Amino acid sequence: MKVLIVGAGGVGRVAACKLAGMLGYCVSDIMLASRTESKCQAIAEDIRSRTGRDIHTAQVDADHVPELTRLIKDFEPSVVVNLALPYQDLTIMDACLETGVHYVDTANYEPRDNPKFEYHWQWAYHERFENAGIMALLGSGFDPGVTNTFCAHAAKHRFDRIDTIDIIDCNAGDHGLPFATNFNPEINIREITQPGRWWNVTDWAEVAPMSVSQSFDFPEGIGPKDIYLLYHEEMESLSKHLDIQKIRFWMTFSESYLTHLRVLENVGMTSIEPITIDGTEIAPLEFLKAVLPDPASLGPLTKGKTCIGCLIRGEKDGKPTTHYIYNTCDHQAAYAETGAQAISYTTGVPAAVGTKMIIEGHWMKPGVWNMEQFDPDPFLKELAIQGLPWVETAYDPELLTIHPEQPSVGAP
Ligand code: NDP
Repeated sequence: MKVLIVGAGGVGRVAACKLAGMLGYCVSDIMLASRTESKCQAIAEDIRSRTGRDIHTAQVDADHVPELTRLIKDFEPSVVVNLALPYQDLTIMDACLETGVHYVDTANYEPRDNPKFEYHWQWAYHERFENAGIMALLGSGFDPGVTNTFCAHAAKHRFDRIDTIDIIDCNAGDHGLPFATNFNPEINIREITQPGRWWNVTDWAEVAPMSVSQSFDFPEGIGPKDIYLLYHEEMESLSKHLDIQKIRFWMTFSESYLTHLRVLENVGMTSIEPITIDGTEIAPLEFLKAVLPDPASLGPLTKGKTCIGCLIRGEKDGKPTTHYIYNTCDHQAAYAETGAQAISYTTGVPAAVGTKMIIEGHWMKPGVWNMEQFDPDPFLKELAIQGLPWVETAYDPELLTIHPEQPSVGAP
């Protein structure tokens, strides 16, 4: 089966590397297409020199459905993997509908002028995908993505009842630069400057951006780090599809990162409202993105590990139970294998694995679906094989310090 990847950033690079490893058995041909074809060609050359395998490249502007449909009709893929930006989700889904091709992405649709991180725009395609006999797999990255399957795994195998899920995302890597974001700066800064929200039984509770934090002692030598409560898109689908009381999302930030961010916010550089300079209109955040380091350039610089996982509490056989399920990924090992750091690696690998689930028919039902709506077993087995082994531990009070009652963040 043929696979078309759209987007040649760090995530597209890793997914292309991993799918190239499947050439000859479940994948017959790969095309990597992006707005700037030279980036695709550089990745294709790198894959050839690492693995001896060839992938095709093309130029496409994924904001335009006719351009996409033309490319899809020419190449005839079975699946389109959208690793461009969240702005392109709907145009790529439209092109998949027009051509009858399955769809995978790693981030939910976001209008440029409204950083909402909500699924309703994409969920509204469900019936059309169902009627066309094709499927869309939403959010097949790490978070969303693997974290959703960790929760589905816990619901299937470990709990009779889930009370609380804490998704905890740590990047303990150091690139040595004063300020840079781990992935696309525009998307990243839009995400972390919005209010923190979490699901509390029947409704969302809201807190000011970055106003709730605590320390968390991470495993595998990473140690204690400050984690901050954020809104993150997988909470919307998990609170809808799994029977849970509370779900929260936490991410680590260093004091230096937060100080830079505060200054940038205070001077208006994180605004998405366009301003006009000498007749040219530009949003300050778009300008900021252009002057910040390209995340792809962080690959050779970043040392250390990521640790992303779910701390899940509930009941099994009448007894209170806690499971912490996580993966750690080493930035330099990821770079040595694919030429991209661990943030891109931990997103690109699940994108490739989700694509494999569709190609091999493990996950196949027409419609628009989130990861937790499928059997987690084949995905998690393949994830470990493809380079992201995961660990599951019973609760260790020495290691893990988040308690469901503390803090009662933003409780109304
Ligand atoms: P980058 O910004 O590094 O790369 C994005 C790529 O998309 C670039 O090659 C860019 O091309 C291309 N692109 C942008 N607009 C268009 C367009 N209109 N048509 C065609 N190509 C386009 O991003 P990343 O690789 O870091 O991230 C990719 C995606 O993964 C993002 O959606 C991000 O939100 C998501 N992500 C998901 C995570 C998860 O865990 N679920 C974690 C991290 C990222 P050009 O260079 O020409 O602009």
